[in-house]
Order: sequence, then structure tokens, then C-alpha cells
Amino acid sequence: MRHSIISIVLPAISFLMISCVSSTSEPSIPTDRQMERKIEKTLKSLTLEEKVGQMTQITITAMAQGTELTAVADSMIRVHKIGSVLNTINEEAQTPELWEKVVKELNRMSLEYIGIPCLYGLDHIHGTSYIAGGVLFPQGVNMAATFNREHSYNMGKVTAYESRAANVPWTFSPTMDLGRNPEWPRMWESYGEDAYLNAEMAVAVTRGLQGEDPNDVGPYNIAACAKHFMGYGVPVTGQDRTPASINPSELREKHFEPFKEVLQAGCLSLMVNSASNNGMPFHCNTELLTQWVKEDLNWDGMIITDWADIDNLYNRERVASSRKEAVKLAINAGIDMAMVPYDCQFAIDLVELVKEGEVPMSRIDDAVRRVLRLKYRLGLFDTPDTYRENYPGFGGAAHERMAYEAAVESQVLLKNNGILPLKKDIRILLTGPNADNMRTLNGGWSYTWQGHGAAYPKFTEKYNTIYEALCSKFENITYVPGVEYRLDDPFGWMIDQADIKPAVAAARKSDVIIVCIGENSYCETPGNDNTIALSDNQKNLVKSLAATGRPIILILNEGRPRVLADIEGLASAVVDVMLPGNYGGDALAALLCGEENFSGKLPFTYPKYTNKHAVYDYKPSESQSTMSGVYNYNAVMDVQWPFGHGLSYTSFEYSNMTVSSDQFASEDVLKVTIDVTNVGETAGKESVLLFSTDLYASSIPDVRRLREFDKIHLEPGETKTIEFDLPAKDLAFVNYNGKWTLEKGDFILSCGTEAVEITCTETIVWDNPNID
Ligand code: BGC
Repeated sequence: MRHSIISIVLPAISFLMISCVSSTSEPSIPTDRQMERKIEKTLKSLTLEEKVGQMTQITITAMAQGTELTAVADSMIRVHKIGSVLNTINEEAQTPELWEKVVKELNRMSLEYIGIPCLYGLDHIHGTSYIAGGVLFPQGVNMAATFNREHSYNMGKVTAYESRAANVPWTFSPTMDLGRNPEWPRMWESYGEDAYLNAEMAVAVTRGLQGEDPNDVGPYNIAACAKHFMGYGVPVTGQDRTPASINPSELREKHFEPFKEVLQAGCLSLMVNSASNNGMPFHCNTELLTQWVKEDLNWDGMIITDWADIDNLYNRERVASSRKEAVKLAINAGIDMAMVPYDCQFAIDLVELVKEGEVPMSRIDDAVRRVLRLKYRLGLFDTPDTYRENYPGFGGAAHERMAYEAAVESQVLLKNNGILPLKKDIRILLTGPNADNMRTLNGGWSYTWQGHGAAYPKFTEKYNTIYEALCSKFENITYVPGVEYRLDDPFGWMIDQADIKPAVAAARKSDVIIVCIGENSYCETPGNDNTIALSDNQKNLVKSLAATGRPIILILNEGRPRVLADIEGLASAVVDVMLPGNYGGDALAALLCGEENFSGKLPFTYPKYTNKHAVYDYKPSESQSTMSGVYNYNAVMDVQWPFGHGLSYTSFEYSNMTVSSDQFASEDVLKVTIDVTNVGETAGKESVLLFSTDLYASSIPDVRRLREFDKIHLEPGETKTIEFDLPAKDLAFVNYNGKWTLEKGDFILSCGTEAVEITCTETIVWDNPNID
């Protein structure tokens, strides 16, 4: 994160000023003057109804019967001039050929009736979820566990290419909510609990998706949409789409910062968080949408709502007393496109609101410019359609290899008493509800919204479950489920049924037991649960197996950490594969037999108790030794496994940490070096994480913050020197008054077992909200 001291005079918030987004800072995305002229010309040619239509997005399910477009599609485009369509056809993945045909037809109608191509968007958050035969990568939480930006970039690049192969130019990705509450059912979609890790991974995905020039997204790239802006990952209750209570400093320092980074890196669109913070729904928060994003960042991209979230200002949040008032609030706050998604009442209401003077025409023009700009940037005016035949690499071996490599680096060895790697001829009992199905490996947004489509052979027959993959590496495997999920039920994911005795009987005839446990797939609000404890059936399975005295290896296949403190001690080894995708079984088999080495690290804190959640950047008062005296109390930070934890078949030693200067001022860039040596006998990869600690500050400091990371490969005996350039401004925090601040005083930089103390020699409080 780079910061600057340039000061900005902030315009007052008023919707009258929204159309002339003014700022003294450089535009986040360079302005293309020629394109701007085209946008103005197109804008001038549009009627009010056509403009409002461009701001309207409808789901394909409202416009199609089965896989065929209906007359509703024609009338929505002809009468209401809708500018964008989303979602998968017939609620499951379709072939690229079908996609090509349907999107082409939508474009044909749009060009004929409006003269503007349609903008189609799909939820391709971990590969081409809705295109049959496309490649699925591990989910976001796994990509974070690799601590390797290259995998995220590859995921973006492959997803872009394969989406274009199906004539789809836009995706609602990267998902970059901070997963800081393990109860929240969407934790697995983004990159763990840390702001910096989320920012880095999201920027890498965006570059992969969009290519290098956001003004000219070529035929092999698509537009990204960073989501969900912002603070979505910390609902107070842990339940999806319920209120957050984030204080202003934390909002800017942790939740806004990753979005700022990705928008400044050129991300072309932004989706808003469905929920609310401190009583204000994000969808009508003028300060955040217009001031922070559009004005302060001088960002000219497009802001889209989440699903039905204008209506929700009325129906759910009750800050508007009618649908129409909700439209007024959201559009005046800075929304450019409404994911309506079923009917065109939004467009009717908005036309009326403009005529009544409730929404200024300047606001409409600003929104439509942003929609048109996205379409121009994507080249849709010149080339509205792309064709499968020009994408020979679709679903090919090169893409599959990248997904496999990401899966290998994403699985985390949490515990190993020496039992792993396993010999290939050892007698294995494989058991547990996650052992033999593709649905649990993939999670939600996989062929269907809830992920149950991954259980259909027509989509995943060619891939290996854990069972199938282990059979290709080990000679002696018996599989007895013990506990099973209902795989065909999209919403029955939390139900499991036990038949433990046969598994226990088989265990007695084996040398080792591999138990695959965790969760079935779910997505969004249907994934709400009453507890984050592992299910009783699964815990009982493990306890019963342990009574046989055979060693147990636990494989955790889950989107959020399930609490398992009472069975963890029964295991000789634990691997968290999280949601590794279609190649997750193959990756695990290769890791368990030692053909591959583990290198994943936890991107979140694994809790030990169901109601004692923790994050790694907690406050000092959360971990205190007992005070002396009568009033003695303590605070214990007791977690199952900490953020950044992850073992390997080899060991790495850290030494010789140096920092270029032990004193620094705000404009300095600190050069940090550290030697890392592979002191074991196996080659391996290591994620090198650099943390900082601000010892004392005027606002309570976090105990640690991740500031940089790098991933390296080391042969046995090899040493590499890692260099990090750390701008001193990266050590700043947002103070109680919401201002970026760097204070005089001592800091510790730490990396592995090494630490160096350094001192800041000045105190600076920036007025500029974006100190790049
Ligand atoms: C989700 C978004 C998604 C959108 C479109 C919403 O329910 O919250 O993440 O992009 O649907 O499918």
C-alpha cells in the first residue's frame, strides 16, 4: 500500500455536485479523451427512458423459459431499454455454445432497439462457475492460503478467457470481504481476515481478469466487479445480510483500504454490500458511495447494487417507505446500475422521479456515462459478441494445471505428529461425509448457486473425489462413509446422517484412518447456521474411530472453520483443504503420499470455542496475564490454530533479519532483508510473512499487522535472501477522528522467528483520506 501526502479539498456532499465529480487527485483509471467524446455523443442521443434503461439490470430467469428466451426479453429490451442482464440460464451451468447463442440474441435485440450492446454479468468467483466444461479453481479462502499472488492472477486470466469463450464480458469478482467472523456463511468466498492479504489477492485477480489496460479490455479479458463494498464480513450476529457495527477508524483502515487498492489498480466496477453499518444501509450511503469512492478516489467506474437491494431499502431495512422512495435514496446516493432483478418497475419509478425533480438529471447522466464507459472499455460497441471457436484453450490442460497447482498450494497442514506422508501400501480406511463427493470440494457458486450442481455427473464426472484420487496413489483403500450428506438437496446442506458401526468395523482392519469431515456446500443467506461447531454425527464418528486405537488423520473440507477442539486431540494429523475445487482431491492425494509438499498457511484464525472468535490483529487487552493484587483478572487469547499457521514436510529457518535504518520518517521506504533456509531433506515452498507491531499509539494499536509477503521455493539446504521495500506510511493507522496517522515511537518488524525494533522520529496526521 503506497500513500502520499497531497492534500485534497473535499467537496461538500450534495447530489447537485455528483455529476461533476471533482478532485485534485489523479484519476484512478487514466482518462481516455477519445472514448469520453464517444460516451458524450452516445449519451446525448438517448431519451430519458433509454438512459434509465441503461441503469437497469434484469435476471435472465425473468426473460427465459428453460434455455429459451421468451417474449419478455424482447419487451424488456424494446419497451424498457434495459442495459444489462445477469445470472445463469435455467439455474445451472450451460455450454459455451448455448451462452454464445443467448447473449448474441440479447445483443441483437439491444442493438436493434437501443443501439447499445447489452452487458452480461456472471458470478465467476472461482473460475467459470456457470459454463459447463470450464475450469474451476479453489475458492477465495484457498487462494489466500497459498499466499501466492500468481495463483490469483492465473485464476483471473483463465476465468476471463473462458468467460469470453462463452460470450460473457463481465464477472462479479473479486469477492474481497474480510472474513473476520467465522459464523458468517460467505467467509470462504474471499481472502481471509486480513486487509492487506485481501487487497493483494484482489488486485492480482483483477489484473488477471481485465489485463493491463482498463481502458482497453481486449477479447481475452473481461471486466471485474469488486464486491461487496464494504464491511460485509463482520455482521454482529454472524448471520448473512444483518447489520454490522464497524467504527469509523476500522472502516477506513481495514475495510475500505482493500477496495481502495483494487479500484486504484483499475477495477472497472463495484458491487455494494447488501447490509448496513451503524444504522445506515450501504446502498443509500452517499458519503461512502459518492464521496469516498467516486470523488476521493477520482474513480470513474460503475457502481452496481447487489440483488434486489434497492427494494430492500424499503422491504427489509425500512429506511424508505415505498419502493419508489428507495429508488430515489439509492440513485441519489451514487448507485449507477440496479440489479433489480425481476421486473422493470425500477425504471418506471426512476423516470417519474426525474420528471418530478426528485432525482437530478445530472445524476442520471453521471450514472449512464459510467455504464456506457464500461461498455466502451470492454469494446462491446465494436465487438458485441465473442465466439467459442476463437478460444481453443477453453477447459484445456494448461488451465487445468493452473487450477491443480493452486489447489496443492492452498491446502494447509495444521498438525502432523510424523504420520504423514503415508506409504503407498499402507492399509487405509477412508471415511466421513466429505470423502466421496465433488460438491463439498467445490462449495457454492459451482455449476449452481448453492453448489449442488457439482454433485451432478454431467458437470463433474471427469474429476476425482478424494476417494477416487486416493485410489490412484494408494494400493489398499477401503471406503465406508460413516456419515453422509443429502447431496441433491440445495438447501439441506446442514443435514448429515450417521451409520457409524460399519466404519468402526473397517477401521479395525486398517493401519490408518483418514476421516474427511466439515460441511456440505451452501451459498449466502441459506448458509446461515446456529453454531460453528462441527456436527455431532461427525464428532461421534471420529470419537468412535479413535476408540479402535488406529491413528487418525482428519481432513477438514469446509468453507468456514468448524470448531473441533474436543476431537482434535484424537488426531495424529490434521489437514484443512477448505474448498479446493475440482482438483482438490488430486492435490490432497499427492500431498498425503509426499509427491507434493504442503505450503499453505491459514488466512484466518481457527477458533477453538464456538463463542470466542478471534482475529490475529486483535487488541492487547484481549491477551493479558493476571494482574497482581486483589483485583486479579486476565484475558486469554486461546485459538485452535493462529493466522499464518501451516506446516510442511520440511523445516525452514529464518536468520539475519536487517532493516535499512533503525530510525525512520514518514517519507522513508524501509528495506527489510531476511534469510530463509530449508534445513530439512525435502524441497518445499515457504510463504514469508512480514508483520509490524506499533508498541504504543494514541488509538489502541493492533498487536500485529501483516505488511508484506512473498512465496519462495527452496531445495534442501538452500538459503534465499528475501527483500521487502516497506514504505513507512504503511505503518500508519487511522486515528479516532478518522485521519491517517503515523506517530513517533517504537515499532517491531517481525518475520518468522526474527524481529527488529525500529523507531519513528516524527508524528504526522494527514488530512488527505488517501495518503498514496
Ligand atoms: C450476491 C452477490 C452476487 C449477486 C448476483 C447476490 O445475492 O450477494 O455476491 O454477485 O447475487 O448473483
